[in-house]
Amino acid sequence: MKAIQLLEKDRIELRDVPKPEIAENEILLRVRAASICGSDIRMWKNGYKNVTPETPLTLGHEFAGEIAEVGAKIRGYHVGQRVAAAPNIGCGTCDLCVSGNTHLCRNYDAFGISIPGGFAEYVRIPYHAISQGNIAILEEDISYQEAALVEPLSCVYNGQKLLGIRPGDDVLVIGLGPIGIMHIMTAKLFGAGKIFASDLSEERMEKAKELIPDIHLIRGDIREGFKEYGIEGVDVCIIAAPAAEAQAQSLYYMNMNGKLLFFGGLPKDRENVMINTNLIHYNQLQIQGCTKQSISEYRLCAKLVNDKRIPLALIMSDTYEITDYRAAFENAAAARGLKHVITF
Ligand SMILES: [Zn+2]
Ligand SMILES: [Zn+2]
Repeated sequence: MKAIQLLEKDRIELRDVPKPEIAENEILLRVRAASICGSDIRMWKNGYKNVTPETPLTLGHEFAGEIAEVGAKIRGYHVGQRVAAAPNIGCGTCDLCVSGNTHLCRNYDAFGISIPGGFAEYVRIPYHAISQGNIAILEEDISYQEAALVEPLSCVYNGQKLLGIRPGDDVLVIGLGPIGIMHIMTAKLFGAGKIFASDLSEERMEKAKELIPDIHLIRGDIREGFKEYGIEGVDVCIIAAPAAEAQAQSLYYMNMNGKLLFFGGLPKDRENVMINTNLIHYNQLQIQGCTKQSISEYRLCAKLVNDKRIPLALIMSDTYEITDYRAAFENAAAARGLKHVITF
């Protein structure tokens, strides 16, 4: 079967690899759609631990498809079922896993990160993933492409749930890539009041406004922009860009009792950020971090998309055959368009 593999830094290839064989407690998934994430691009550009030309890794952690084979010992799933798989698999026995936070397990595995991922015609779903509920059965009104995008959406949802947007809160989203736009869509669901949005790229701002016409764009200096809208600050600020400066500056954009979400990592050489902690103290601010998603959040997000509460299809820029993977990866790396999805 065909699979997109990382061999080393700067080297991904479409290769013929053996179709996986499953044990009696495993499932074989035939992939129908898999989307490219920023972390796939980072792994491509920087390489990844333990990945070498001798030990390549099939990438892809955002994917959906249909069940092709079910091991004899598996109950609850059948061949032909439309499903999506949450990527993070906990050890299953630590306190975090037992509390439902398998995504916070220290000994976790993940498709496309530590085990073969979804940029392939078939993926083997190991027993741990099945027993933890990683396989979500798709309802009828969600497409495979949308289902692939449920993974990043559920990362966004996890962050906003922790953040706790209150109805009517004015929200500022900085960074209008696919993740920033998912944050806007999700903030609406949580009852946000006015939503302000900013990005260094004029093209991305125009695109966001086209997709979600009721947002308020801010160009250039954010506090100057606030003045034009007659506000002093916002109740919630979400930084959806790997920008240290934006994180540091965001504390100055906040109303009293405001909440910030730092979503997304910074490059290793810029991870120490100087922030004014007096603003946290005197303005009673909260800064929230988040990572990945729980299984229940993943399943809930699939339902929200199925029920047309989140118009995820808007975020899909292009679909590609697997043989056109290079164009897909290059467009994603150059931040052209929003989400790039490989279909099978
Ligand atoms: Zn991702
Ligand atoms: Zn665990």
